[in-house]
Amino acid sequence: MKRNILLFPLFFVLFGALSQESLDLGYYLPKEIGYSADIPTPKEIIGHEVGEWHVSHDKLIFYLEVLAKTSGRITMENGGETYEGRPILTLTVTSPKNHKNIEKIRKEHLTLSELDGKSLDVEKMPLVVYQGFTIHGNEPSGSNAALAYAYYLAAAEGPEIERLLENTVILLDPCLNPDGLQRFAYWANTNKSQNLNPDNNEREYHEVWPGGRTNHYWFDMNRDWLPVQLPESKARIRTFHKWLPNILTDHHEMGTNSTFFFQPGEPTRVHPLTPKLNQELTAEIGTYHAKALDKIGSLYYSEENYDDYYYGKGSTFPDINGSIGILFEQGSSRGHIQESENGMLTFPFTIRNQFTTALSTVQAGLDMRVKILSYQRDFYKTAREEASRSKAQAIIFGDSKDAAKTWHLAEVLQRHQIKFHDLAKETTLNGKRYSPGNAYLVPMNQKNHRLIKAMFEKRTTFTDSLFYDVSAWTFPLSFNLDHEIVTSMEYAGTEVVQLEGLSSQVTAYSDYAYLFEWHEYYTPEALNMILEKGLRAKVAKYPFSIGGNSYDYGTILIPVQGQALLPKELHQFLGMVAEKSKIQINAVNSGLAQGIDLGSNELDPIKKQRVALLVGGGVRSYDAGEIWHLFDTRYNMKITKLDVDYFEKIDLSKYTDLIIPNLSGSSALSAKGIQNIKEWVKQGGTLIGYRNTAEWFAKNELMKLKFRKDTLVAKGVSFGEKGDFKGAQVTGGAIFNAKLDRSHPINFGYKNKALPLFRNTNVYIEPDKNSYNNPIQYTGSPLLSGYISEENLEMLKGSVPFQVQKLGKGKVMIFTDNTNFRAFWYGTNKLLMNAIFFGQMM
Ligand SMILES: [Zn+2]
Repeated sequence: MKRNILLFPLFFVLFGALSQESLDLGYYLPKEIGYSADIPTPKEIIGHEVGEWHVSHDKLIFYLEVLAKTSGRITMENGGETYEGRPILTLTVTSPKNHKNIEKIRKEHLTLSELDGKSLDVEKMPLVVYQGFTIHGNEPSGSNAALAYAYYLAAAEGPEIERLLENTVILLDPCLNPDGLQRFAYWANTNKSQNLNPDNNEREYHEVWPGGRTNHYWFDMNRDWLPVQLPESKARIRTFHKWLPNILTDHHEMGTNSTFFFQPGEPTRVHPLTPKLNQELTAEIGTYHAKALDKIGSLYYSEENYDDYYYGKGSTFPDINGSIGILFEQGSSRGHIQESENGMLTFPFTIRNQFTTALSTVQAGLDMRVKILSYQRDFYKTAREEASRSKAQAIIFGDSKDAAKTWHLAEVLQRHQIKFHDLAKETTLNGKRYSPGNAYLVPMNQKNHRLIKAMFEKRTTFTDSLFYDVSAWTFPLSFNLDHEIVTSMEYAGTEVVQLEGLSSQVTAYSDYAYLFEWHEYYTPEALNMILEKGLRAKVAKYPFSIGGNSYDYGTILIPVQGQALLPKELHQFLGMVAEKSKIQINAVNSGLAQGIDLGSNELDPIKKQRVALLVGGGVRSYDAGEIWHLFDTRYNMKITKLDVDYFEKIDLSKYTDLIIPNLSGSSALSAKGIQNIKEWVKQGGTLIGYRNTAEWFAKNELMKLKFRKDTLVAKGVSFGEKGDFKGAQVTGGAIFNAKLDRSHPINFGYKNKALPLFRNTNVYIEPDKNSYNNPIQYTGSPLLSGYISEENLEMLKGSVPFQVQKLGKGKVMIFTDNTNFRAFWYGTNKLLMNAIFFGQMM
């Protein structure tokens, strides 16, 4: 049976959209074909036309479930759950005939990237296209287009769609960020008027903090494709590797006054590990988008603004995996309609451009199928050749004192299907000890050779000085792991097929005391559990050794006597703590040690902490979310989010610590709020600030800081070059080396005298005149990986990324750098925990 789709002329829809009475599915769809009446339209299931309201995630999946049940072309899989419990769904769309052989097709497709791939006939193989929508929740045209696009794929009739589905497997990811989309849909819909109001000042177009862009913990999910720390990314990367798609598209939105962008981006800003042919194919696919957008009269651009550098983005990650990643950016109506430099921008118009390019993508794929399949085969063939020529045989990484952090990097490798081995035997390389269980070895000669390079390399020279995002992400540095490139496989033990859980234990029962060192990643979780139980614990300010074991700065002591638990209960409780936080707790039967004895005054008592976090307008939500996520999901510690809106009314005496993440505006707090903070610190509170808060602390006389400021003036720079000149001074994100004073409590738990730090600010603090007040200081040649301008590098040398000062009975601390960056900077997470637990000792 055929369905009649109403075909309104374009002008009618544009003007009609102000009332939306005339909005019809036909606005989006190709008009020259028929649609099956057996397939329900979105409106028949969710009660409104596509583009009339912002689809909530619930309604989106409700419709897609119906499609999957009704259409022989579609199956649906649930890959996991978001933090808020929403399913992470992928539709597989192909011909019913292909569906019958889908496992065979998938396996054959994966073989293409293997050695056996050379015998496959690509002429006979379907292309695999992964189409993902709305990774930023407040860029909704993608997911809303997915409604219409899924309908089209299910209902369209005729030889064209049949040929497409016969030759293509489409993995349709209707929403890459379910929690964010839901948050934004709620906002846009609750503010919608019957008489759509395009006034830019209308509340509908100004979301409340933190907006719907990010996920539950306010992470930008389009930076997590490589670190894979968030549940949405874990599900997605599983699907990616299950299929190794040939093309992956990522549908976004940009500013309201922009038109439409498709990749390729800036030609000079492509990562050097991405093959040239990748960009050429992207450009050829682009001609299909251009033609399709020309046909509906939409303006567009490419080869500008956006780049293809950081592999953690959805449109760049595929490029290092033999695939072709494509970014789309649509000027955003943000709500239902807005005035723009390009006239009235309606929500349906934005949806139609996304729909149109989703379709032009698969049409290009269909025409270029053999070429693109061959490209993927060649990508892995040449990668294997490079791998076999590689002088470096393997990379060893590990931390002799921190198994958990090492394990978590191995986990990332496993998610990317990178092979690695246990270490054969204890070994010392370049003065660093590597031991089995605390170290792994990654052979260079393997399928994902290029991906390994992209994750482990340090790069300090660049063809361009502008970056859309970070310029460095070297994983062993972000995890602060010792690492070494070796030219033989002699250190390789057995291959790790499945990572096993970490072991943990309390060595024995004791009537006297228990000890654990502070180096393991999850020790703050353990200490917090102990303090929350009302138990007494102390921290050692100096190293010592006892019972043949040596204990470093920051070792935690739990005496048995005088505790709230009986000795037997304490032993049992600590067993539970050790298991939960994956550490070893040692029983000791004597307090007599070499170095300080266990009863020494050089062990300080540690108090139970009550931590508050400033959030809301004027605070950068990413930085706040990273801290919330760290406390809540890694260390299982309660943290109270205090909103700037009601901050001045709060009695701060309940809290021991207040964290102020990076401030994006200076007016975050009222004068009374600032006064309250000052009084609270003077009474003994610990105030911890990050990044731009440094200047705010100085201005409000919470700290005395001397800043280094650049005096750069433009010489011989034309007006046209002004943007590039200024852009070159941005430190978008690079990695720098600092030397540590290990005796300072801020550095407890760090075994090395140096620490890589991630930096994306241009805040430079002069060191204090007393050396003991500079526990973390940038070295004389600090650049480890990434881009920084010469002028900024000069200022960075010898500057200090951390300061702590007394104010009354309290402490004020500043970190100029983000120690919690994007959940994968495991290496510096402990600095914040040290500030919390040991702040009063500093
Ligand atoms: Zn976006």
